[in-house]
Amino acid sequence: MIDERRIHHLNQAPVTIGPVVYWMSREQRVSDNWGLYHAQQIAIEQKVPLLVVFTLADAFLGATVRHFGFMLRGLEQVAVDLDNLDIHFSFLRGEPKRSIQKFIEHVNPGCLVCDFDPLRIKRQWFDGVAAEAKIKVVEVDGHNIVPCRIASPKREFGAYTLRPKLKRLLPEFLTPVPKIARHSFVLSSSTALERNRLDANSLLSQLQLDKRVGEVSWVLPGETVANAALAEFIEHRLKGYTVNRNNPLLEGQSGLSPWLHFGQLSPQRVALAVAAQGDGQDVDALLEELIVRRELSDNFCLNCQHYDSIGAAPDWARKTLEKHRQDPRNYFYTLNEFEQAETDDQLWNSAQLQMMHTGKMHGYLRMYWAKKILEWSASPEEAISTAICLNDRYSLDGRDPNGYAGIAWSICGVHDRAWGERPIFGMIRFMSYDGCKRKFDLAGYCRQWQK
Ligand SMILES: Cc1cc2nc3c(=O)[nH]c(=O)nc-3n(C[C@H](O)[C@H](O)[C@H](O)COP(=O)(O)OP(=O)(O)OC[C@H]3O[C@@H](n4cnc5c(N)ncnc54)[C@H](O)[C@@H]3O)c2cc1C
Repeated sequence: MIDERRIHHLNQAPVTIGPVVYWMSREQRVSDNWGLYHAQQIAIEQKVPLLVVFTLADAFLGATVRHFGFMLRGLEQVAVDLDNLDIHFSFLRGEPKRSIQKFIEHVNPGCLVCDFDPLRIKRQWFDGVAAEAKIKVVEVDGHNIVPCRIASPKREFGAYTLRPKLKRLLPEFLTPVPKIARHSFVLSSSTALERNRLDANSLLSQLQLDKRVGEVSWVLPGETVANAALAEFIEHRLKGYTVNRNNPLLEGQSGLSPWLHFGQLSPQRVALAVAAQGDGQDVDALLEELIVRRELSDNFCLNCQHYDSIGAAPDWARKTLEKHRQDPRNYFYTLNEFEQAETDDQLWNSAQLQMMHTGKMHGYLRMYWAKKILEWSASPEEAISTAICLNDRYSLDGRDPNGYAGIAWSICGVHDRAWGERPIFGMIRFMSYDGCKRKFDLAGYCRQWQK
């Protein structure tokens, strides 16, 4: 059963008789998908067909062929899995809000179920469609274990304020997601909906994408691979996570973020599988990142309009950055120099190269990388814009609330506190090259990526 609190009504229209449409967007999977499950429950109750639709925008927040490739190849599996369950999958191209509106006009559904997503562009799609639709539109939060709107109605100061709220509600929400059943009510032929094949290669060649950032082969897309990766992490690397995760030379982190970002893996599934390993510091540490930190990012983006600019900075951080705005910089680089890994810092360049070539930068270095961009940019505004541009362009898990929150934490003190004052940073937490040298084999890491 779905907890009613996971469902948010985006308009007041009633559910009418007609097929139920699930607009798949952030949760690109068939299993462990609360939105799809809820849509099927309504369809079963009403004895009507269930349709799943995905709207592909030709451009999305600077995504490249690396991101579109990962997503479309994952969706190929979704299409097959839905077909096996007798659930119709429609794949639409064009501006998403307009595409879905045309689709609604055509199939005359009784209800539309959307995913929850706090990013501005997605809010414009979902809220925009709901405002103009004559049918019921609901949103189901399948990304947060404790639904974001229920965990807290306001912007939280930090992990320390959100954590107790999540902990209190977790026992009610950390439950297995019911399976999707084969659907018994099929679409009548008069609806004339094509069963369109999804061919990732052909779509990739048609889209006008930036192909300079190529697909990567070390991580394969799709639900099956994602679940295998989760099992591998739990069996071999969860033990030791606390100690190993901050060493960029070790595979100490789970590596699950690309699948989590594209919704090919359910955070709820990860949390349940990890929690089933029993108590212990590694389990606790992983759940802290996966639940508290990740859900704090959604809380931040939902409740702060300016999540990707200096407007997100808390008061103390804004004042301190302002005070140090004119401080002289020893080094200064343009966006292009940053992008080409042409700074005077070999560690920074290596981290940038790792991200460029693999689509992933180690989590510990992401903090160092973003803070150095602040130190070497003309202004904090420029630093945020550079960090977001590069992270979103190269990281497979980019364009995610975690990325906007991580960059805001590094550069403008979001979810952090004031530290000792120093040039340029003011009271924003600082990270140094020497600090990294003490923590891990810095020369070894640089050798690995400078090759
Ligand atoms: C400057 C900067 C940029 C970042 N950009 C992104 C981004 O674009 N996309 C992204 O998913 N994460 C981002 N993060 C957060 C974090 O670094 C990554 O989630 C993590 O490194 C992903 O690797 P993993 O899956 O192996 O993580 P693990 O350590 O195995 O953690 C498991 C999961 O917990 C969540 N998580 C872990 N750390 C954090 C964190 N600090 N904040 C929020 N959630 C977390 C992620 O969903 C992650 O997949 C960024 C952090 C910083 C400081």
